[in-house]
Amino acid sequence: MTLEKSIFSKIIDRELPADIIYEDEKCIVIRDINPKARIHLLIIPKKQIATLFDLSPEDKDLMGHMMLLLPQLAESQGLDGFQTRIHTGESGGQEVFHIHIHLLGK
Ligand code: 5GP
Repeated sequence: MTLEKSIFSKIIDRELPADIIYEDEKCIVIRDINPKARIHLLIIPKKQIATLFDLSPEDKDLMGHMMLLLPQLAESQGLDGFQTRIHTGESGGQEVFHIHIHLLGK
């Protein structure tokens, strides 16, 4: 079965443009196209996983990696505090079905 590429996978593969502020072997960080705060970043794993419900034990390091990036990213943006959000499932307000962590700061 071939997985249909998400918008975020297309950004990762440079098929769609985005304001990329960080990238490593496991994830990419972009500015949200429709920011809800002065700083609004999306931390996105390169592995396309639809929702938190779809995580498996092998994704533990990946999720930990993204969590550890959050304070570093916040500091790089001059923030001394921030909010995080993960929308999960349609009823959880999720629009893009490729896991991502929102980082919001004033
Ligand atoms: P969620 O799925 O967590 O509810 O929200 C998806 C987020 O991705 C929204 O905040 C939306 O503005 C952002 N978004 C959707 N499409 C794009 C895009 O093509 N580029 C960027 N940079 N952000 C996007």
